Amino acid sequence: MITDGSVKQESEQGTHLSQLASVGQIAAGIAHEVKNPLTAVKGFLQLLEQDGRREYIQIAQSELDNALATLNNLLQVSKPDLENEDFQTIYLAVEIESILNLFQDKLYNIRLHTEFFHTNIPISGRKNQFKKAFFNLIKNAIESMVGIGTLTISHELVGNEVIVKIKDTGVGISADKIQLLGTPFFTTKEQGTGMGLTQVFSVVYQHGGNITVDSKENQGTMFTIKIPMMQQVKQKGVKTLNLHYKEKLSMKHFFFENRQAFEERLLHEAINVKDKIEEIHKIGNINLLSNAHKLVLFVLEERGHELISFAKQEGIAWAKYSLTLAFKLEWIQAIRRTVWDFLYNYDLLSKTEADRLAFYSLEKQINENIDQFLTYFFISYSNYKDELLATHQKMVDDLSVPIIPINREICILPLIGPIDSLRLAIIQDKVFSEIENHHIQSLIIDLSGITPMKHDATVQFIKLIEGISMMGCKTFLTGLRAEIVKNLISIDAGFKPMAKFKGTLEQALNDVINDTERKR
Ligand code: ADP
Ligand code: MG
Repeated sequence: MITDGSVKQESEQGTHLSQLASVGQIAAGIAHEVKNPLTAVKGFLQLLEQDGRREYIQIAQSELDNALATLNNLLQVSKPDLENEDFQTIYLAVEIESILNLFQDKLYNIRLHTEFFHTNIPISGRKNQFKKAFFNLIKNAIESMVGIGTLTISHELVGNEVIVKIKDTGVGISADKIQLLGTPFFTTKEQGTGMGLTQVFSVVYQHGGNITVDSKENQGTMFTIKIPMMQQVKQKGVKTLNLHYKEKLSMKHFFFENRQAFEERLLHEAINVKDKIEEIHKIGNINLLSNAHKLVLFVLEERGHELISFAKQEGIAWAKYSLTLAFKLEWIQAIRRTVWDFLYNYDLLSKTEADRLAFYSLEKQINENIDQFLTYFFISYSNYKDELLATHQKMVDDLSVPIIPINREICILPLIGPIDSLRLAIIQDKVFSEIENHHIQSLIIDLSGITPMKHDATVQFIKLIEGISMMGCKTFLTGLRAEIVKNLISIDAGFKPMAKFKGTLEQALNDVINDTERKR
């Protein structure tokens, strides 16, 4: 703790007391403080030698006690670890309050003014060391005011630091003395030990903090202490946030009250979604942030029906605009984490300190609700996608089996491209149902655009012709190329009577039309 010793001069806000005083100054201090009692002891021992008086022994003993006390004092502040105190989560405002109670009698003539903000922000520290430090600072402040004045103490979070200011309207410190603050044994008081500030500085540095002083003679002094807020909280998964809380605020209103902070926290959690918010809004007119508030409201108030219909609606919207599912998942997970951070802070601020049972029930309720949202979201998303897929499929199927009506009884089916058994199954379904529904009498199948069929496809094609015939519809086959004919007869020429064969589509059309007119 005691380093090279240069005490930094004026920084922009007061004198920066970043170092303890130099080893030389400390040594001088110790020498002075220990030399005095030892000199006295020596003198009294000489006197004792001369006339053996009892009171000299007592004086010598008490001077030796003084010397020992001085050394102890010094040891305590330079090696505070000797006290073996563990670091723990502490709230500085709480410690200050408890110390102020000790000064009640002294504060009789002194006006006390406290400005405490962000009192729920913890730091990690040695509790008793801080108590002692605040005791020393407040004691100095009160002593400087000689019984009358105003003591102002403030506590707030700025950035990642908890800042405590202790301000008095006392005698102040002259510029030349300011540099000596924190030096062991530096005191201007008759009964002073000069160890108070040394302890204060030591504690501040032990906790990675910093201390500055502003002082004007005959006006007053202000010590500013900055201690980094506790970071470990984050690793545990919950985060202490800087949120507003009023007495008896309900959980729901706590969320309303801190709407802005909720959004900020949520965006911080959902790193990948953050940049997509606008895009998603543009594509699907989906306002992720206001939807997040809605979800939280439904979850907290257990409005199950609304939650479900909201999830379904979101699922459809997400599917409709083909938004990336990963974003939705990340978003909901971020909402879940943010909700838990908020509940943790609500618990801290409202001091309800939910018991285990209450906590687990709440946990169950909230997680179940969010899970339910996700379930319904995904079901509705995939239903919508399935339906979309089915309609697309039907469109593709229709396109691949283009049955073109010439009139109410005659239709043409021009087949193009490769025909395999899968496609034939679709063709068969479509053809049979069209014949049945529209009472088609003659179907002209034009094969001029197909590639040669494989064996199993040819077998199935023959079955198709047989089926058409069984349904009382006449088949005209046109555009048969040599390759296809070879395939057909190699399997079974028996189907031949079931169809009529024409060279071209035009011939077939003429024939069919003449045929039907003749019948009338
Ligand atoms: P002590 O209080 O025993 O003198 P400290 O280390 O607490 O020792 O303080 C050292 C000296 O710093 C004091 O003697 C005093 O001169 C000066 N000092 C500390 N705090 C204040 C203050 N609030 N106002 C004026 N002087 C102060
Ligand atoms: Mg003091």
